[in-house]
Amino acid sequence: MLTQLIYSSRASRILNNTDLSSIISSSQRNNALVDITGAMCYANGTFLQCLEGDSLAVSHLYEHITRDERHTELKILNVNPITERLFPTWSMEFYSGENDIGQLFLKHGRMAEFNPFHHDFF
Ligand code: FAD
Repeated sequence: MLTQLIYSSRASRILNNTDLSSIISSSQRNNALVDITGAMCYANGTFLQCLEGDSLAVSHLYEHITRDERHTELKILNVNPITERLFPTWSMEFYSGENDIGQLFLKHGRMAEFNPFHHDFF
């Protein structure tokens, strides 16, 4: 069964480009091996990640990610069976606050800033 899981978390410290590149390259390589696709946003010290794939693979990956000490306060925002993937071709597309999607959140989101921890965000 295909599942989509979306969670938010807080970076446990200030992450630089090297930290982020390391997370993204591991994600892209590992996720492709288990046919998980998705997207990740990082801005204002918070992550928002969407994982899509076989439900068992997604729950194994999420459990694995929770053990990463580079982030904390993980909160599942949505977990649902899906019939189609939202991100079918991206093993893990990455967006940060500075690029277009960050601007998109600011423009079209309900929030003045990217803050998945706000109760109104999702
Ligand atoms: P490698 O890719 O071989 O490690 C790459 C580099 O990262 C190495 O330099 C290693 O020292 C460093 N590294 C690895 N783990 C840690 C750690 N816990 N703390 C500090 N440095 C570390 N992984 C996925 O596979 N898919 C995902 O979708 C995914 N999403 C993530 C989202 C977030 C917000 C975070 C913080 C991490 C995510 N990760 C994801 C990373 C995951 O937690 C593991 O670090 C990763 O899967 C390890 O991959 P690997 O065993 O292939 O290590």
